Amino acid sequence: MQTWLGGICIAWLLAQTVLLFAYRHALTARWREPVLRFPVVIFESDDWGAGPLDQAIALKNLHEILARFKDEMGRAPVATLGVILATADTRRIRDTGGAEYFSANLSEPLYTPLREVMEEGVRQGVFALHLHGMEHYWPQTLMRAAVKDASVRDWLQSDGIPGTESLPSPLQSRWTDASVLPSRALESEALRAAVTEEASLFGACFNLRPRVAVATTFVWTEEVEAAWANEGIDVIITPGVRYTCRDATGKPGGEDKRMVNGELSKSGQIYLVRDVYFEPMLGHTPERLVSETKERARLGRPCLVEMHRFNFIGVAEKRDASLRVLEAALEQLRRTFPEIRFMTSLELADAMRTKMPALVETKPTPRIRVWLRRIEQIRGFAKLARISGLAIPLWIIGKAVA
Ligand SMILES: [Zn+2]
Repeated sequence: MQTWLGGICIAWLLAQTVLLFAYRHALTARWREPVLRFPVVIFESDDWGAGPLDQAIALKNLHEILARFKDEMGRAPVATLGVILATADTRRIRDTGGAEYFSANLSEPLYTPLREVMEEGVRQGVFALHLHGMEHYWPQTLMRAAVKDASVRDWLQSDGIPGTESLPSPLQSRWTDASVLPSRALESEALRAAVTEEASLFGACFNLRPRVAVATTFVWTEEVEAAWANEGIDVIITPGVRYTCRDATGKPGGEDKRMVNGELSKSGQIYLVRDVYFEPMLGHTPERLVSETKERARLGRPCLVEMHRFNFIGVAEKRDASLRVLEAALEQLRRTFPEIRFMTSLELADAMRTKMPALVETKPTPRIRVWLRRIEQIRGFAKLARISGLAIPLWIIGKAVA
């Protein structure tokens, strides 16, 4: 009888050890991931820059709404702007009958009012500038695609300055050649030269080197990260996963890495995870944003909110409606979370890197409490923990730190 019981105990312990071993990376990553002491909300708005000229007024409106709110520390909510530095010069392309590619960039006088609005927002603490890319696409890829695709040809030769939002989705990825699917890797030398060129143009436009990068459509590679590191970029915005290509159906694919907040890239950059979507034009409500923020705060995580430019440009009624939804969301956030903190993504990354005690929890008890909540969400882990009995010691730990 005793041998039989002993056997069961050994099997039980063995199952738990195997489970802990199988999930060791996910478990330790969630332990190392910084635990924030306050709810943090940062709006991340991509695609601003070279493009339609009504962006200047759109950013002025956005600035005005953000500046109406303050956290306990007197900080206004921040919208980080993922900056695009150049776009097709459609008139010159048209003049060559579409045979050659030309671009116009953000340093040109045409864009002076837009640059000024961006810089004023930075000075007032409502904007921060991230590098999103030279063009939102890889120009040679677009030119190759135009040979077969009339919509791309028309886009390249359109009247005025077209928005990249209307390009076929796979072609909006800069760091892969999606002129064929599945997409192909770019040539290393061209990629490195492009990163150097765009970082330097960003510097020339804003008198400021970029330190935060966000790849267009979240498709990038380790090689891009290394090139970014050479240009001084030390923070990378991610959706929690690195997609490296467009798959055969055109969707982001080739996932080769998953990451959590505060994790370091091979080149030493800090990753942040942007995994909340607030696009008023797509019907996302303030209530939804509040509930997403609540969940991130419960898990000691920041709430990085994706909110694209397309919400705020174009038809006046839609644009104004988006602003009203954003304003309502900010009111609800401020009311629901009196202790909310607003900051830039760079400030958040620096606080994580230095384990700044004013923001990052250092005491073990609350860290264990948050870790137990986080690991419950690892895919498959909670169920296996129940089956193997590992849930019992975890429950006891939970009671001890409650
Ligand atoms: Zn974008």
